[in-house]
Amino acid sequence: MKSVDTIIYDIKELVSMEGPNRARFGKEMSELGLKHGVSIAIHDGKILDIAENETIKKAYIARDFIDASDYVVMPGFVDPHTHPIFVNTRENEFEMRIMGKTYVEISKAGGGILSSIKAVREASEDELFELAKERVLKMIEYGTTTIEAKSGYGLTTESEIKMLKVIRRLQHELPIDIVSTLMGAHEIPQEYRDNREAYIKLMEEEMMPEVMRQGLAEYVDIFTEAHVYGIEESRRILRKAKELGFKIRMHADEIEAIGGAELAGELGAISADHLGACSDEGILAMKEGGTIATLLPATLFSLRAKSYARARDMIEKQLPVAIASDYNPGSCNCDSMQFVITLSCLKMGMTPAEAICAATFNAACSIERNNLIGSVEKGKQADLIFLKIPSYRFIPYHFGSNSVDKVMKKGVFVK
Ligand SMILES: [Zn+2]
Repeated sequence: MKSVDTIIYDIKELVSMEGPNRARFGKEMSELGLKHGVSIAIHDGKILDIAENETIKKAYIARDFIDASDYVVMPGFVDPHTHPIFVNTRENEFEMRIMGKTYVEISKAGGGILSSIKAVREASEDELFELAKERVLKMIEYGTTTIEAKSGYGLTTESEIKMLKVIRRLQHELPIDIVSTLMGAHEIPQEYRDNREAYIKLMEEEMMPEVMRQGLAEYVDIFTEAHVYGIEESRRILRKAKELGFKIRMHADEIEAIGGAELAGELGAISADHLGACSDEGILAMKEGGTIATLLPATLFSLRAKSYARARDMIEKQLPVAIASDYNPGSCNCDSMQFVITLSCLKMGMTPAEAICAATFNAACSIERNNLIGSVEKGKQADLIFLKIPSYRFIPYHFGSNSVDKVMKKGVFVK
């Protein structure tokens, strides 16, 4: 008998997500690798074995023994698109939207991303850390065990670096993994409105090289949209980012189809996100470029959009789909991947199984962590959530509350 840290015994329903170790597409997205009445042996934060109850009982002796006969157990949610570092919340804009103002109108009236910038520039690293910490702890409560987090509310080299240092500190101090993205191209800062070229040069010659030198971000992201960065500017900035050694992701075709998805495919972006208005050509280009579609239905819900990203067409055209919260202070103050799963079903026509694949394994692929997380398989990190519900199908069906009872990160219960 081998001694291990933990045995999770007699799991009512295990959503293992076992399968090929690459983004799942088409019918694969419906295959959850369900297992019933099995046990998991965990040691040193990793999944050592998964087998029938009796097999595990005979092979291992555990320090902790957890009865899971009442639980659905599954991989922790992976949220591959968040903006959790900011000072002030913007519930006033939520009200403006209800009064009929559009995102672009609010942005032109001094709201939007620009209204978060002044406070972030003035805040200390400690202040930003304390505020973000509470937000990220809430995500963990809701079953999220890995996130991608972006800078992008500073838009100076100094303040973007400050945000990225906060992200690094969150990674070190909280029981969650965080993948870090530089998003200096989130907007054009007010002071450069008449001289965009100078800001782009600043990103190319100072901000991106300095962030790379300090090793503070893995990806560069950009807001490619008619009223922010157009296609030519985006191509130029992203090419430079790649040259410097960053991998790239994009906010593409959220409101208007201007060719953002096509550009993502052309440049081999790891992920293109939003895609509310993405064209057929865009879907095809992403598939050819190996780009994952990361859809953010809670943002469109919060923006009161009439239509959503065409998840069904994407799945039918064999493009891998992931989903994320887009947690941010303006367009989408949602930290619950469970609610994003509900919206993916109700607003984009994804089945509960497809939405769960998109929120776990494919989300892990969207941030290139599928070797470590996203499924419950031997050798993977023991990032697991426990839900006291009849089956996985209950997750989107029962919305507006938290179905996650326990959260395990690297083999240790953190909720
Ligand atoms: Zn975003």
